[in-house]
Order: sequence, then structure tokens, then C-alpha cells
Amino acid sequence: MQWGRADGPVERMITGLVRILIVCLLASLSRECIAADGKRQRSILVLEDADFRSPFYSEIFAGIRTAAKQSGRSPTVTYGESLDLARFPGPDYEESLVGHLRTKYAQRPIDVIVSIGVASAKFLQRRKQEIWPGAPVVYGFVPDLPETRALFLPDTTAVFARIRPAQLLMAARAVVPDLNRVVLVGEAWKNPLTYGQWKQDFAAAMPDLEVTDLSGATLREVRDHVGSLPARSAILTSAMYSDGEGTYYSPASALARVAEKANRPIIITSDTFIGRSGVGGFLLLPEMIGREAGEVAMRILDGEAPSSIVPFGGDNVKPIFDWRELRRWNVDEANLPSGSEIRFRQQTFWEQYHWHATIVASVVLLQALMIAILLRERRLRFVAEVEARQRMSELAHMNRRATAGEMSVSLAHELNQPLAAILINAESAQQILLSPAPDLDEVRDILDHICRDDQRAAEVIRRLRAFLKREPTERRELDLNTMVGEVFRFLSVQALTHDVELVTEPSAAEIRVKADNIQLQQAILNLVVNGIDAVAHLPDKRRRVIGRTGLADGNQALVSIADTGDGILAERATEIFKPFFTTKAQGMGIGLSIAHTIVEAHGGRIWAENAPSGGAVFHVSLPLAAPR
Ligand code: ADP
Repeated sequence: MQWGRADGPVERMITGLVRILIVCLLASLSRECIAADGKRQRSILVLEDADFRSPFYSEIFAGIRTAAKQSGRSPTVTYGESLDLARFPGPDYEESLVGHLRTKYAQRPIDVIVSIGVASAKFLQRRKQEIWPGAPVVYGFVPDLPETRALFLPDTTAVFARIRPAQLLMAARAVVPDLNRVVLVGEAWKNPLTYGQWKQDFAAAMPDLEVTDLSGATLREVRDHVGSLPARSAILTSAMYSDGEGTYYSPASALARVAEKANRPIIITSDTFIGRSGVGGFLLLPEMIGREAGEVAMRILDGEAPSSIVPFGGDNVKPIFDWRELRRWNVDEANLPSGSEIRFRQQTFWEQYHWHATIVASVVLLQALMIAILLRERRLRFVAEVEARQRMSELAHMNRRATAGEMSVSLAHELNQPLAAILINAESAQQILLSPAPDLDEVRDILDHICRDDQRAAEVIRRLRAFLKREPTERRELDLNTMVGEVFRFLSVQALTHDVELVTEPSAAEIRVKADNIQLQQAILNLVVNGIDAVAHLPDKRRRVIGRTGLADGNQALVSIADTGDGILAERATEIFKPFFTTKAQGMGIGLSIAHTIVEAHGGRIWAENAPSGGAVFHVSLPLAAPR
């Protein structure tokens, strides 16, 4: 198929379509080019008068880059040129430099120039028109002086940076409060645009100050001089680039060599010197100088006219001191200018580990607090236990009195019997003695009876008094068999009254427990009294209460009080131990609850069940005094 020849209608149509496609393709390609043009990188040229490889200028450059990056709109390229005019003076070099720059930037349009330093500003004043005629300029790192403002070209702006001689003096006086002499080191003291007017500044601040000006001296001379300075002096340095004899230095290493010999504190002027030598002072912050100038450059790139940005002083000087040097020269931090930053401070143990120390101290405190709370709790519990025992003892006593009250009828009966017998016997003896020949043997026999009856009555009274005696609660080792025997003996009168048979079946061997005898007696007594109550209404033959002692689980003492009564309803087996639960018309419902409290206070257990043969059995288990 030959393109361009429209033979038939189909071919014509295809040809037309292909043409349209080609046109569209070309159109889209041309749009790409426009877009690519639109994305052309914006460019900043950083022009500085020293050497980018020195720490001070490389930090300035880094600051400008940071500002360019942070602005973050269109991509920006940053070029850098070190003029190095101080090390390479003379018109020939400048001519060749201009030629070189013209060639280099012929195809690279520059959108904004950031000029760093006074020498660079001067160079632009002389030669900008030949190299970058249309580029606006931001001047950075220049002092705000009429002389520097005079250098500014039209369509430019500036961010000023400068340390005044008075500030160096202020720093020196902070470090040496009784200062009366300063030694000036470094070329800047000669430069009218940096510290050139120091004489007026010093005279205004300290008219009597003695000044040794070593600004024109060689490094060797400076080193010789600074090693034997008098006590009330300080060394004020500015950057040293050459020793005036054709030897060039990096300012930091020149300063380090001065510091090697110096016997007095050195006041420095750049953030890049701190930590290497010198005590500190008002320091230029090169990164900040770069960033401030860079930010203004970005504003211009974004369309602001340089002339609309009024030159302003940057926030690029700060009093900074080296903590180690402050200690070396015994400087009181309170004397330092306000807002001073202290670097290289060795942290105290507290500063370094205060988090750890705080946490440990808090844990210890918390622990101490918890121990105090626990101790208090323990004490309160102890007090409560003592009080509870006291109450229980009082309650048990009341319970005993109540029991004694209940027993009063049978006691009266018990006493009446011997008393009546005594009366009858006494009357019989009187009758016998009235006869003319009394039978003295019979009288003796009657008197013996009277004595026995009296002893019987006395025994009843003794038991009652012993029962009602109020003794302080005290736990002692005792034999359960003896204790249960005493309770059964004591209740024998009451049992007799109700015609109830009391039976004890003690274990063969002694069972020793540690207990309060009176309290434990009370508990068992309540169980036996209940047993008597439970069988009292039964026919004669079945009225029996049995007390057994033995061992349970090998290491528990066991007392069981069984009766032949009707037993306990299963659903009441636990309810009966609650206070004031009673099924009796005259009952108070405290007997079992007291028994329960007493047994628990002794670390034991009480429970009730029904015997298979009928009747209730109450069991009390207690820890043995000496576990087997
Ligand atoms: P009270 O004897 O004044 O009723 P207790 O606390 O001693 O008070 O007894 C509470 C209740 O337990 C009694 O009312 C009775 O219902 C029941 N109970 C106690 N011991 C026995 C027993 N041996 N047989 C049957 N029920 C008993």
C-alpha cells in the first residue's frame, strides 16, 4: 500500500485515520515537551569568599540546602562557587575567574545568587554585570554597616550577621570577672567591616582596659605571647586564615595551636570552634546563617521581588560556652550572658539516671507504704481479734449464767436433798440425845451422814461457782477427756432432773489440745444441754446423751456429742449455727452460734449430722497441741 494515494473510499478512510493518529501523536508529544520545559529546575548559586571545605562555610552551604529542601515546591538545584580571593589576590586571577564563571554558567541560567561574606559582595559589585546580569542577589553573612549596605546592587536584599567587639568583651568579662587586659588574635580585628572599630567599643564599655593587639602577628609570635599572660586577662580571637608569612591555615587548627600554648581563657566567635578550644562566647551559627539566606532566596524564587524584602538582622548569634572550660577557669554560670547555652556538660549521677533513680525510689517507697499498710492492718486485726475474744468471753459468760439460770430448779432440787437429809438427821440425833441413855454410836453414825450430806451440798455449790467464775481468756494445753468429763459431771444434776442418761466414752489415751478451758467447756456444754433438750420429751428408755472423744484424720482431736432425739432436718444443718436461730419456745438461739465462734477461734471446725441409728451428732474437731 502506498501512503498518500487514495485509490478507493476504504483506502481513503484508512489514510485519513492514520493521519489523524499521527497528528494526535505529535500533539501529545509537543505537550510533553512543554510540560518538560515547565519542570525546569530552579537554580541557586551560592557564592562565597573563602572555601566550602572549611567547617564554617560547609555548614552555611548545608543550611542553604536545608532551606531549599524544606521549601519543597519545584525542584531546586544549588550550585556553589568558592572565590577564595583571600588566598588568591590580584587582578589576573580575578580576570580568569570571571572568564571561567562566564563560560561555566553560559548555558545554566541562575535564578538567584546567595552571596556569603563581604569579599563576595564586593566581587559581585565589580563583576556581576558581566557574568549574571539579570540574577537577583541575597547577601548573607555581612554586617549591618553603611559600608556594607553601600556594596548592595539594585534588585537585592540581605540577612545580616555579625558579632560586635563589645560582645566579645562581654563574654570575656563573664569568664574573667576582674578582667583588665585583653589580647586580640586574628585578622578580623584589623578589618573595618568586622571588628575594625573595636577601640571605640572597648572604650565605651571599659575605659581602663589594657589591650594587646596581636592581629598582625604571625602564629609563632602569637603562640609565644599567649603562654605567659597575667592573671586578669583573656584572649579574644577571630578566625585566622594566614599567619601573614604566606602560610595558610584552617581557622580551627590555627586556633587549636594558639590554645595549646595559652595560659588564659580564649573567647571564640564561631559555633564550629566550640569543643576544640576556647571557653565560648557569642558564637556565629553558620548553619543558621545559611538557612536564613536560603529561605529569603526561596521567597524570591517563589516570586517575591528582592526589593520588597527589607534587609534584616538574622537570629544567627548565640552565647554558647564549653562546660569543661568553664570548670577549668572556675567560672560561675550565673555570670554568663542571659540565654547562654552550655555544651559538653557532664551529667551528674542524678541527671544521668534520674529516671532510673526515681523509679527505684518510687518502688521502694511504694513497698514501704504497702508494708506500713500491711503492718497497720495486722495491728488492727490483732486489736480486733483481742476485742472479739473479749466479746466472746463475755458472751460465753452470759451464756453460762443463762445456763445456770436454767439449771436453777435442778440445782435447788440437788441442794434441797442434802439439806432435807441434814435436817432429818439432825432432828433424829436430837431425839436420840433426849433419851436417858442415848445410843452414842447411832448419834455418831447420824453425824457422819450429816457431814456427807453437807459435803454433797458444798460440792454442788463449788461446781456452780467454778462454772460461773469469770477468768481471763487464756489458752493452755489440756486433756479433752478431762474437760468433757467435767462438763458431763457438771450437767449430771440437770440430766438427773430430766431423767436423761449422760454417758461418756473417752478415748483410751489422753488427747491434748491447746485451748481456753472455760470457753471450750462452754461450747461442749451447749451441745450437751441441747442434747438433753432433744431427748427430754422422749420415753424413759431412749433419753440418752453420749460424749465421745477420739482422733480424726490422724492429726485432729474430735469430740462428738450424740443424742437419741429426733435429729436435725437436713436443710437446717448449717442454719442452726446462725445467731438467734431457734425452734424452741423458750430458746434464745445463741448456744450453737457461741459454740461455733469458740471452735473457729481455736482453729477448729463444728458440724452436725444425723446418726444412722437416729438422733443428732455434733462433731467438734480441733488441732492437736503436738501434731503426731
Ligand atoms: P436454742 O437451744 O436456744 O434454740 P441453739 O443455738 O443452741 O439455741 O440451738 C439452735 C437450734 O438448733 C435449736 O433450736 C434446735 O432447733 C436445733 N438443735 C440444736 N441442737 C439440737 C439437737 N441435739 N437435736 C435437734 N435439734 C437441735
